[in-house]
Amino acid sequence: MKFNRDTAVVFVPDNLPEDEALARTTHLCIAAHQDDIEIMAPQPILECFQQEDKWFTGVVVTDGRGSPRKGIYEKYSDEEMRLVRFKEQYKAAVVGEYAAQVMLDYPSKVIKNGSETAPVEDMIAVMKATRPQIVFTHNLADKHLTHVGVAVKVLQAIRNLPSHERPSHLYGCEVWRGLDWLMDNEKVVLESSTQGNLQAALLGVHDSQISGGKRYDLAAMGRRLANATYFASHDVDTATGLTYAMDLTPLITDPNLDIHDFVQGHIDRFAQDVNTLITAVM
Ligand SMILES: [Zn+2]
Repeated sequence: MKFNRDTAVVFVPDNLPEDEALARTTHLCIAAHQDDIEIMAPQPILECFQQEDKWFTGVVVTDGRGSPRKGIYEKYSDEEMRLVRFKEQYKAAVVGEYAAQVMLDYPSKVIKNGSETAPVEDMIAVMKATRPQIVFTHNLADKHLTHVGVAVKVLQAIRNLPSHERPSHLYGCEVWRGLDWLMDNEKVVLESSTQGNLQAALLGVHDSQISGGKRYDLAAMGRRLANATYFASHDVDTATGLTYAMDLTPLITDPNLDIHDFVQGHIDRFAQDVNTLITAVM
């Protein structure tokens, strides 16, 4: 595939020709950084694992050059760090048996700039090559600016497609800020109760980010357990792992729907719910 940056890569774990590898995709995840996919999208990875008719493709948008580095990575240059993070993402693609792993290789500042359209063009190209049924990306209420930048560019890319080429669902997932605050009837509830071993492996390959002391692997598994435990106060738990997503599908079925208004609606309903409960006991 031809992308705007010459250094972009399509990695295919099982060495199928690139176009065939991408065309088999059913579930596509577009994330900002190496490790975000494995933190936010365990459910589609597990759903596609070892299936002949379901395939997961990951897209990482940024180049990893600005990554924090500690321990054995402390003295690594930006380019060395980039190579480490690419290698870690390829390991995840092998462990998770992804259809393909696309690295778009943009500096973060390009993703945080709303007037930069090259990443949107690349996302459109990926979307046309993969024709996914479901797309996963960051949610619009994440607190990391690069994550929000990716989510907005994904929306712009899908809105640019003819309506018959758009995926049927777009989900915004949790990384930097959970989605427990969404009203229960507005949560997309994605179960990841099985294969904890595989989930741990997918998170664990991102050693350069974990070995500095930030246990993203434990934190991600802990959030999945906490979501499952606190999802419903009266029911006995059946799920032991859940991740939540904000359903961004209305923003792609109606390209004129205002993004600010859409997110504000979720925040307003949360605020109303809090106020209702306090009022009820006063
Ligand atoms: Zn990230």
